[in-house]
Amino acid sequence: MELRSLIRDIHNFPKEGVVFKDITMLLQNPDALKKTTVALLNLLEGKDIDKVVGMESRGFIFGPLLADKLNAGFVPIRKPGKLPSETISETYELEYGTDTLEIHLDAIQKGDRVLIHDDVLATGGTAMAACKLVEKLGGVIVQCNFLIELNFLNGKEKINEYSVQSLITY
Ligand code: 5GP
Repeated sequence: MELRSLIRDIHNFPKEGVVFKDITMLLQNPDALKKTTVALLNLLEGKDIDKVVGMESRGFIFGPLLADKLNAGFVPIRKPGKLPSETISETYELEYGTDTLEIHLDAIQKGDRVLIHDDVLATGGTAMAACKLVEKLGGVIVQCNFLIELNFLNGKEKINEYSVQSLITY
């Protein structure tokens, strides 16, 4: 079964003119869910990971599944005001305006080997902010991996100082 065939385009979501890659058909298929987790793990080629860091909110789906298989911890990166304890934040540019992400101050220990995971790499702004947050706390980025990479938005270039791997490219 081709994973790609379970990803559908939703036109004009979340706003006019955007073609959104919807992964919910893939998630609801038991074989595809397993196959995706294994394939994302294979991208790591056996590298040791202490923490998997996932970005709100679709990084919270495969992030913990990967962490479980890697015997690693899971760390959420969230939108402002959502994390209950002390945080640090990183603000990044969007096409119009800015966005901010937060991580708990005690989520990463110095020298932790980190896998950054999200469902989609688009412009790379989210991933770049996540990498900066982890590095501010002394973590080492081993890899950024994604289920989907939207090639035409050049996100890979923005985060080209890191190892970037994606399962499916458009
Ligand atoms: P970026 O910061 O790279 O431009 O955007 C990536 C973030 O936006 C990710 O957290 C991702 O979940 C979300 N995103 C952007 N475009 C899409 C899309 O087409 N489908 C899905 N599922 N998420 C998207």
